[in-house]
Amino acid sequence: LVRLRARLSRSQNALGKGLLTLLSREHLDEDTWEEVEDTLLTADVGVQPTQELVERLRERVKVLGTRTPGELRGLLREELLTLLVPDFDRTVNTESGLDTPGIVMVVGVNGTGKTTTTGKLARVLVADGKNVVLGAADTFRAAAADQLQTWGERVGARTVRGPEGGDPASIAFDAVKEGIQEGADVVLIDTAGRLHTKTGLMDELGKVKRVVEKHAPLDEVLLVLDATTGQNGLVQARVFAEVVDITGIVLTKLDGTAKGGIVIAVQRELGVPVKLVGLGEGADDLAPFDPEAFVDALLG
Ligand code: GDP
Repeated sequence: LVRLRARLSRSQNALGKGLLTLLSREHLDEDTWEEVEDTLLTADVGVQPTQELVERLRERVKVLGTRTPGELRGLLREELLTLLVPDFDRTVNTESGLDTPGIVMVVGVNGTGKTTTTGKLARVLVADGKNVVLGAADTFRAAAADQLQTWGERVGARTVRGPEGGDPASIAFDAVKEGIQEGADVVLIDTAGRLHTKTGLMDELGKVKRVVEKHAPLDEVLLVLDATTGQNGLVQARVFAEVVDITGIVLTKLDGTAKGGIVIAVQRELGVPVKLVGLGEGADDLAPFDPEAFVDALLG
């Protein structure tokens, strides 16, 4: 929590502070409510959730009459939390419940932080005593396999890789096979995310998924989104959700944006929880997403 707060305050807690300042005005006229709306939209909360939030705030502020800063904070906290769906199950599912390893596939557009997230996640799992195999199925980006292998060496996980430009599905297959043979606990598969055509992506990811599922059920499909890309991230999320069944979202680079609202928008868009957040480039900068801590950090 302390770290989340520090990282978010570096990005100015713009959303929470802005809202609190606006709602503290003596007269909440139409212009002010429009500013509230703009603040939420600018922070990437999304149109629908913004409208809902403003409507509920207006109603509750009216009932409240005079407002102390403490009351306003409490009210905003409750309403933001409601939008963040606090009762979502955010456990990253890495246990297969069978005698095969848990299989986690990591998908997303290149550059969002997929490989880094896979490495960080491996670190958490290894620290938890798990035996982890990494599958470098991002054969599109030349350095991706090296990068993943470096993470593997750093955290103590074996990396299965193929030739540059090789077939992602066959590497994923090899990784799962190795995981089974070695009695690994978890296999993490890093994939490529080219968005040039949807059919290309669909073919590739679909194939990886099919090949993996021939050997072991997929326990988790994590979609990695870069929080700094705003609405663009939502467009990506939609495309990926059409191609594979996303079970969880990882929002990276939350340390580099004042637009925390994307958490609300993307959960709403996909109906899937944000499970992890990336708060920096370092190995320890991956945290479980905790809605309460997040709102507290926003509100300062
Ligand atoms: P990929 O192409 O999706 O595999 O992306 P990479 O894992 O190579 O990450 C792209 C860049 O984003 C790298 O420079 C990472 O260090 C950086 N990055 C990844 N996650 C985070 C994060 O949570 N915060 C910050 N600030 N940078 C990140």
